[in-house]
Amino acid sequence: ADKYPLALKPGDPGWDDLTTINSGPRMNATFVTLARNGDVWEIAKSIRQVEDRFNRRYNYDWVFLNDQPFDDLFKKVTTSLVSGKTHYGLIPTEHWSFPPHIDQEKAKKVREDMAQKKIIYGDSISYRHMCRFESGFFFRQPLMMNYEYYWRVEPSIKLFCDIHYDPFRYMHENNKKYSFVLSLYEYIDTIPTLWDSVKKFIKNHPEHIAAGNSMAFLSDDGGETYNKCHFWSNFEIGSLSWLRSKAYLDFFNSLDQDGGFFYERWGDAPVHSIAAGLMLPKDQIHFFNDIAYYHVPFTHCPTGEALRQSLRCHCDPKENFDWKGYSCTARFFDINNMEKPEGWEQEKD
Ligand code: GDP
Ligand code: MN
Repeated sequence: ADKYPLALKPGDPGWDDLTTINSGPRMNATFVTLARNGDVWEIAKSIRQVEDRFNRRYNYDWVFLNDQPFDDLFKKVTTSLVSGKTHYGLIPTEHWSFPPHIDQEKAKKVREDMAQKKIIYGDSISYRHMCRFESGFFFRQPLMMNYEYYWRVEPSIKLFCDIHYDPFRYMHENNKKYSFVLSLYEYIDTIPTLWDSVKKFIKNHPEHIAAGNSMAFLSDDGGETYNKCHFWSNFEIGSLSWLRSKAYLDFFNSLDQDGGFFYERWGDAPVHSIAAGLMLPKDQIHFFNDIAYYHVPFTHCPTGEALRQSLRCHCDPKENFDWKGYSCTARFFDINNMEKPEGWEQEKD
């Protein structure tokens, strides 16, 4: 069974007093946010909630990354909100541009076609740089190299429940490498040939495919086709050493070479998810049921009234996406032989 690194349990004296710092070792970990200067007030809201629900008792650092220099307002506002140290990094051009092997004409044509078809962000160059950066580069920026675990936070997210323990420490003590709170089906028009590239990688690098992996989460036919399930990567707590491993880098480089970040519109969510699903043993991926989260348009609100009340949650359980038809979380439970929480069937639709 998982080691649960709770210094306190519900009902213990001090449970309600979240000013008490939980005892125990600190992890070598940081929050990380990719943002533009114009995101300052939306990231301010996210930080305030992360601090109130968790970090004001732990004071972990926060790394901000941007393809443009951060301005004084952004730095002032975010530094005043974060209880740990803040660091601001400028992304080098090589990590935010077209690699030389990309055919610009072909990429341009794709953007025009996708604009016609009204595919979300289909005509955007910057969105593609963002997805490629999050897939292959954020974890090796100089400011990130000092850390072993990261927690990704985007502008405009919400956290609905108190977090009474250190999720970084949970990851460490239970040997987890990747985690999620929401999962869903990817929009196929953004990744038509992604799975072909993945199959090519599997063939070229069988040494990177883990025994006891989560292929059954990703494919309904043993790997022939992709069922489009992925973990939503706007929330992630994960291991930076894993992302910096030869296995992950070989995977990223192989996909990058195939060009789908620009010839299609591959997202970092399916890229991270497929990597985790194939190259980690399945017990190294964790579902954080107790981290209640919103990123437009989906909510993860923990199933179970007692849990929600003990964590002082303010989400509406009717909004919970976990057991709805478009979520892949029930599948994650099934392939891991996990028992679904009591009441899940009532939340189906
Ligand atoms: P969505 O969640 O897929 O709709 O995409 P977002 O607009 O939220 O972008 C994902 C993350 O990348 C967020 O943290 C954004 O702040 C960040 N981001 C998106 N585009 C850019 C960009 O051009 N420059 C920078 N610096 N950050 C960006
Ligand atoms: Mn977002």
